[in-house]
Amino acid sequence: MTENNGLKCLSPQEFVRFLKQQEISRFYLVYDRKTDQVISSHAQLQSLAAFLQADKRDFMQHEGMFFQVDREYGTLQGAFIHRTNRGSGVGGLRYWRYETMEEYLRDGLRLSKGMTRKNALSGLWWGGGKGIIARNEDVDKNDPGVRASVFQEYGRLVSSLRGCYITAEDVGTNVTDMTNVFSQTRFTICIPPALGGSGNPSISTAAGVVCGMEAALEFMGKGTLRGKTVAVQGLGNVGEPVVRILFEKGVKKVIACDIDPGHVEQVKTEMKGKNFEAKVIPRGDNSFLGVECDVLAPCALGGILNPETIPEIKAGIVCGAANNQLEDAERDDRLIYERGILYLPDFLVNRMGIVNSAYEEYGHIEDDPLMERHLGKDWEFSIYRMVLKVLQRSRETGEPSARIAIEMADKLSIENHPIIGHRGQQIIASLVADRWHEA
Ligand code: NAD
Repeated sequence: MTENNGLKCLSPQEFVRFLKQQEISRFYLVYDRKTDQVISSHAQLQSLAAFLQADKRDFMQHEGMFFQVDREYGTLQGAFIHRTNRGSGVGGLRYWRYETMEEYLRDGLRLSKGMTRKNALSGLWWGGGKGIIARNEDVDKNDPGVRASVFQEYGRLVSSLRGCYITAEDVGTNVTDMTNVFSQTRFTICIPPALGGSGNPSISTAAGVVCGMEAALEFMGKGTLRGKTVAVQGLGNVGEPVVRILFEKGVKKVIACDIDPGHVEQVKTEMKGKNFEAKVIPRGDNSFLGVECDVLAPCALGGILNPETIPEIKAGIVCGAANNQLEDAERDDRLIYERGILYLPDFLVNRMGIVNSAYEEYGHIEDDPLMERHLGKDWEFSIYRMVLKVLQRSRETGEPSARIAIEMADKLSIENHPIIGHRGQQIIASLVADRWHEA
């Protein structure tokens, strides 16, 4: 059907057809530390291993990647496990459309590495992982029956991995999907409170973002949020409570925008009597980022900080919940640093989304002290203390904050779990030894 070296150029559906022709229903790509080689379960897939091996951008000695073809609806389902020194690779499950296998693999590599960093900087005893299901465009992604089947199948994949990967909700998945995953595996978080899960994390995420703002203001010698003006882009699940918490903290004014008139109206009604201005903007209009304010909080989409928008920013601090705010991590990190703006990397301040589920297995407490310490000033891994550390080191070294945060995270991520050691790696070795791909 295809030249072997062209596998990465196939669409996921073409690739699934290739796998079916080869009678492959499961395969893996695993990094062998001893030989410094990526090994594939099947000789026919060696070109994918070679592609990862040669990649300098996204591949970072990912410990293991395991894939299956969904029997009923032909989706390609994968679990990317980046690093498990601190514990199982934990990270959300995306249900998304990809043009090519290269795009699909790169997304998994990049996102799982990002989760290693976020979990490590949060002081969690978790490694980093990510799940990705490439949608089959021939089936209706909104059909509840299809979704139930696809996500149950994914749950079986997760169970088969014996706990080296723990899955969660992410872009394109919802709590019902996670309930379907949970019906087939215990290795999932983000399930409904009725089943013992921790529920919607957005309010905690918002509180974490505000902690980041407070730390940055203190670092600049500008006191507290009292009397400040904050601009919030996006009034969704996180943006709305950010506004609420900011007024509780005594800000002078909040300026906000959203592309959805309903969200703007709703928050305006809630904030009646407060010094709150919000407007509806057209999709793709990022001129809001240039508004006069002390703190700018991107709480909508990623990729908004780039050579076009960065020169327009008037705020001294950028601190928001949106994932991957820098369009190009290296280039834009430096650009924003050179403008003298304190940029707080998203993975440093939006951690509460995942932290919210981190203690589920240890039981549930209202106003949980384990959660509260992330939002306080005492614990060394609290958002507040970590932000101060990153900014201080950035000042001392002259390196941009995101680069410093990544260096700190990578160092933390190779510490072994104090009780179970580097167990994820042992599990992966056992899956290979037991010929997981033939089961
Ligand atoms: P959401 O979808 O509830 O809200 C996003 C809001 O932004 C929506 O109201 C949408 O209309 C608006 N929007 C989209 N494009 C816009 C634009 N160009 N300008 C202005 N507004 C725009 O999402 P959310 O849960 O509030 O998450 C916001 C961001 O934070 C996302 O990037 C998400 O990945 C990230 N995040 C969320 C959590 C969480 O706990 N929910 C945790 C970590 C990271």
